[in-house]
Amino acid sequence: MVIHPSFPNSPYMQLIKTIKDMQAFGRRLKAERKSLGFVPTMGALHEGHLSLARRSIDENDFTVVSIFVNPAQFGPNEDFKKYPRDTEGDLQKLSPFKVDAVFLPDAAEMYTAGFSTSINIGNIGTILCGASRPGHFNGVATVVAKLFNAVTPDRAYFGQKDFQQTVVINKLARELNFATDIIVCPTVREPDGLAMSSRNTYLNSEERKAALILYKALKLGEELIISNGMVNAVLIKEELRMLIHTEPLAVIDYVEIVAADLGEVEKIKLPVAICLAVKLGKTRLIDNIIVDRFQRKS
Ligand code: AMP
Repeated sequence: MVIHPSFPNSPYMQLIKTIKDMQAFGRRLKAERKSLGFVPTMGALHEGHLSLARRSIDENDFTVVSIFVNPAQFGPNEDFKKYPRDTEGDLQKLSPFKVDAVFLPDAAEMYTAGFSTSINIGNIGTILCGASRPGHFNGVATVVAKLFNAVTPDRAYFGQKDFQQTVVINKLARELNFATDIIVCPTVREPDGLAMSSRNTYLNSEERKAALILYKALKLGEELIISNGMVNAVLIKEELRMLIHTEPLAVIDYVEIVAADLGEVEKIKLPVAICLAVKLGKTRLIDNIIVDRFQRKS
């Protein structure tokens, strides 16, 4: 366990690289009856990640942020190799906050030689993003289980931005009896509405402009349901598809309306989530909005 030399003024932030040290950190806090909040990330941090860290700092005595680009959740033809990595920049971004430790395991620490265990999260991992990313959510569930066992948090913070992931993690925590509360935090957006994402850095300027179509489609869906009172999900999805098709650079992966448990919705019964995956060039972006009568969340 080391205090990062670049942050002599940050009395807080320890860098922890091994599971053993991470578990020892958690044990010490438990002995002192201190609560521990945890923010798992793949790095290339932006305001979305930092909002989770802030919430954890507000709600817990101690906060750990992990940075680990998890190979097990990338398919063979996906962007694992080119996924943005900037550990020094990430640590700089975290240093103004009262983050107590950053857990930075390497792949060999997380997946020891001969590693073969995998959690199968079931059908909810095969729909929506799981349909075009086979194995992705099993990889997510497996790494989150390992991270929870390493960090032993009281609370863990996830973004609504990855709505399906939040459903997967809630199921994982419930069904495998993790003593960790799962807290879902609102999506943080750029001023024009684009959901922040580490993958936005892949977009060229034309694609960046075109990417706005995701948020426009979500807002149209919300309006059709709330203001126009449309209840036929098939027709709503068709309207959204038509809008997205007006953007020549956008290629739809899916447009879906689902219930809180990801169940298919035919007739709108609030709350529902409108979920989108759209490709712009080589970059696949996802976004969603939860539509509820009293509480509109982005
Ligand atoms: P990632 O580094 O992309 O794996 O994301 C780590 C965590 O940050 C996940 O719980 C994401 O849902 C969350 N996150 C990513 N983007 C945003 C955003 N724009 N707003 C809120 N949370 C986010």
